[in-house]
Amino acid sequence: EKVIFNGSITERSQLNIDIEDRGYQFGDGVYEVIRVYNGSLFTGEEHLQRLIKSAESIQIKIPYSISEMKNLLLKLIEENNLYLGIIYLQITRGVSQRNHLFPSADVEPSFVAYTRELQSPTEAMEKGVTAITVEDIRWLRCDIKSLNLLPNLLAKQKASEAGCFEALQHRSGAVTEGSSSNVSIVADGKIKTHPATNLILNGITRQVLLDISRKNGLEIIEEAFSVEEMLQADEVFLSGTTTEIMPIIEIDKQKIANGQPGLVTKQLQALFNEKIKEQCGL
Ligand code: PMP
Repeated sequence: EKVIFNGSITERSQLNIDIEDRGYQFGDGVYEVIRVYNGSLFTGEEHLQRLIKSAESIQIKIPYSISEMKNLLLKLIEENNLYLGIIYLQITRGVSQRNHLFPSADVEPSFVAYTRELQSPTEAMEKGVTAITVEDIRWLRCDIKSLNLLPNLLAKQKASEAGCFEALQHRSGAVTEGSSSNVSIVADGKIKTHPATNLILNGITRQVLLDISRKNGLEIIEEAFSVEEMLQADEVFLSGTTTEIMPIIEIDKQKIANGQPGLVTKQLQALFNEKIKEQCGL
């Protein structure tokens, strides 16, 4: 298995990660997950742009251009014979003696990427999944795709222990997003999703969703909604790179509408699949 380490492709077994890498000690870094369909990157450019933006917002300068990273990723896909899966990429502030202060400017960031085979969650996408609601206890820069995911992990674990797929977070009743996905509702024929503020990660899938909705005459409003509004909605669905577009049929043991995936959600799934075909030639 090949991986990317600081600008070149090497064997995973040859890799040495220092115990004083700031990613390991502090979660001092940012990451991305990109879908690979049919051996091609889906929305690769958008993910790499967001990686750069996340890194800049914590003052890490990535020493590679988008096209350099893209070429490396394509080479990695080829070397690992990846057809359907994901690429995980992360960049940390590098290796230096443990200290809360940033290291001196000559310390290079650490960049790694690896691939994993992953099917699309087809059965769950057809049947829908269940969720719980949890208080959003994260910091106020959720727009940065930071390695610090403890609150997200705690939320996801709680969902799993309740037999559910996802935890839907809210700040004093205003729904923000899932632990690893964005959330939208459908009410009165309109789609609603939280605006892209500091309180959510502006998902690439969410952005594709906004685009395909508008192009196909579906009204989509970027406006926060309450837990109550969500429970009363006609449809609720998640969006994310690995989650794709996932109907939610039950929240906190309460059925959403008739407890079946809704028509708008199904339409969006179909439009999303077309978009994948268009870009990755599936
Ligand atoms: N919100 C959070 C907190 C996430 O971790 C993710 C990524 N899985 C998303 C939203 C969805 O983002 P994307 O569509 O870019 O995968």
